[in-house]
Amino acid sequence: MRLQPVLSVILLGTLAATAQTGTVTPNAVSTESDTASAAPAAAASETTIARPKSFDLSAMDKTANPCEDFYQYACGNWRKNNPIPADQARWGRFNELAEYNRQILHAILEKASASDPKRSPVMQKVGDMYQSCMDEAAVNAKGAAPVKQDLDRIAAIANKDQLIEAVAHLHSLGIPALFAFGSAPDLHSAGMEMANVAQGGLGLPDRDYYLGQDAKSQETRQKYLEHMTNMFVLLGDSPDTAKKEAQAVMDIETKLADAAFERVKMRDPKNRDHKMKVTELATLAPNFEFARFFGARGGPSFTDINVVPPDFFQKVNPVIDSVALDDWKSYLRWHTIRTAAPMLSQPFVEENFNFQDKYLNGAKELQPRWKRCVQTTDRLLGEALGQPYVQETFGADGKQRMLKMVNALEAALGDDIRELDWMTPATKKQAEVKLQAISNKIGYPDNWRDYSTVKIVRGDLLGNAQRARAFEVKRNLSKIGRPLDKKEWGMTPPTVNAYYNPPENNINFPAGILQPPFFDKSADDAVNFGGIGVVIGHELTHGFDDQGSKFAADGTFTNWWTDADRQEFDKRTTCVADEYSGFVAVEDVHLNGRLTLGENTADNGGIHIALMALRKAMAEDAKIAQTKEGFTPEQRFFIGFAQVWCENRTPESSRLLAKTDPHSPGQYRVIGTVQNNADFAKAFNCKAGQKMVSASACHVW
Ligand SMILES: [Zn+2]
Repeated sequence: MRLQPVLSVILLGTLAATAQTGTVTPNAVSTESDTASAAPAAAASETTIARPKSFDLSAMDKTANPCEDFYQYACGNWRKNNPIPADQARWGRFNELAEYNRQILHAILEKASASDPKRSPVMQKVGDMYQSCMDEAAVNAKGAAPVKQDLDRIAAIANKDQLIEAVAHLHSLGIPALFAFGSAPDLHSAGMEMANVAQGGLGLPDRDYYLGQDAKSQETRQKYLEHMTNMFVLLGDSPDTAKKEAQAVMDIETKLADAAFERVKMRDPKNRDHKMKVTELATLAPNFEFARFFGARGGPSFTDINVVPPDFFQKVNPVIDSVALDDWKSYLRWHTIRTAAPMLSQPFVEENFNFQDKYLNGAKELQPRWKRCVQTTDRLLGEALGQPYVQETFGADGKQRMLKMVNALEAALGDDIRELDWMTPATKKQAEVKLQAISNKIGYPDNWRDYSTVKIVRGDLLGNAQRARAFEVKRNLSKIGRPLDKKEWGMTPPTVNAYYNPPENNINFPAGILQPPFFDKSADDAVNFGGIGVVIGHELTHGFDDQGSKFAADGTFTNWWTDADRQEFDKRTTCVADEYSGFVAVEDVHLNGRLTLGENTADNGGIHIALMALRKAMAEDAKIAQTKEGFTPEQRFFIGFAQVWCENRTPESSRLLAKTDPHSPGQYRVIGTVQNNADFAKAFNCKAGQKMVSASACHVW
């Protein structure tokens, strides 16, 4: 589990943050269905997913005009031939590759879960974790018993002091009730970690769900109330009591939502930058009894803390006293059960699925149990499971070719910055310093996380999950006051994703994404520059988007821009924000151009510099410049790029993601970028007036 009290890492895409595998991040976005059905594992594993292809001619709809709708042209047949599987809420090339990886992990775990005394310690951990999850009969026989001790503890709370201690206890189990607390990079002291408290404590995916007065928000709140009521009834409460408890939770969470900053506001680092003395925090929000809370948490002592944002704690402060103790107990009870539900018996699993995956995301069916169990193991013990995965899938040659491409993209971004007509030399010089300082990590960690202190036993799913989460929470806490470990990874090796980390100023590419359709050892450079090349360019550009541009080369929140250059930058990013706000996600819901600004800037910059890098490679090697399968290298580049983003989404997930996901849907990641790109128009002979040629094209990088 990654604990991120502040938004510090920028991903390539939002893929799989599921509720039902039991890994709860503060305000996590549930974007993919993933829940158990009673179907036996053997039956479910019969459908095998072939390794995805890069540059797939059969995916294209050649009847479409590339200059009118390039997404349909590049992805039309793929979208037609790949409807969303019943157990998913989205289905795209990312998911295809993630499912392919999941099969590899499945085979590893089936083998590791056999009780063999000769297993290595790493295989014992992942194998027994997986076994405890797969033993559905044992899980079902226990019902809600595994969570009883935690619920009894809440029931026994007799006063306010004990309430604070109970919140601290839940935090130590990885349940961030009321707010989030942990270690995060110090925005002002390069390379150091410090204590952070942040807004949070919600059960719905975003604060807006609690506050919106539109019909859909009201419906969602009603469904959420019913969902909570059902869960309380499953725990043995009478329907009347359950209904009251659910309403109490809703009232509390609405107050937390009302005190929280909007997602877009939280994108601005200045709204996440409030370093103060612990004593000041205590004065600001005395009812939280932070001294008691921190004491109960253990961990290193500290005198400074970053508060994200102070408004939240100030506004919630009176709520702590005004809400009745019994209602607080309902709230803690709810967060305990919603986190545990995926690890409990079938009725809890199904109730969780019905709301999180079916209602909110539009998935039709529970995922087969083995899929959830593979994912649970990856989430909880990712750097143990990553070891055999990397051994089986990742070769040194892949890493070398990838490094070469990273270098080519860095050189291209340097050229691009030097050629910019809107930036003055003073800021260019600083940008160059930042670019030179960006480091990269490829594939997997140099030093694997040591899980030897985590007790994993057969037949104890919730206990295993709690111990693994407690280990991560403690590990995170122990970083307070220590140097930032830039070698640590924020994603597990099989993950199909990539990220830029502003405080670390590095780009990161897990082994899981270094495969087709992103990266294909057997494909030509044009296709690979369009795939992983654009991904590399995208991550590099994040260092210079609306957020990244506010961090210096050493990772601190520092202004290295002249005022005039910042104004020019803002003018250009506003163009991008307005462009994407014009796109419709579903029905009446538009994309939020400000929420997706960083990602859209990175997509546009990434494709621009990846093409620069390809052209340089073509100039050096005539073979790369050849036309293949009837397409010029530039055409293959753009088609390869677009085909990474072929996808289908349920209307429910489109709606949810438009509110919560900083990434645009695949369709607009393609259309939005190519219509700004003059090289695209040239490559496909598009003329002014056609849809893929914007009359007011936006350019930042
Ligand atoms: Zn990104």
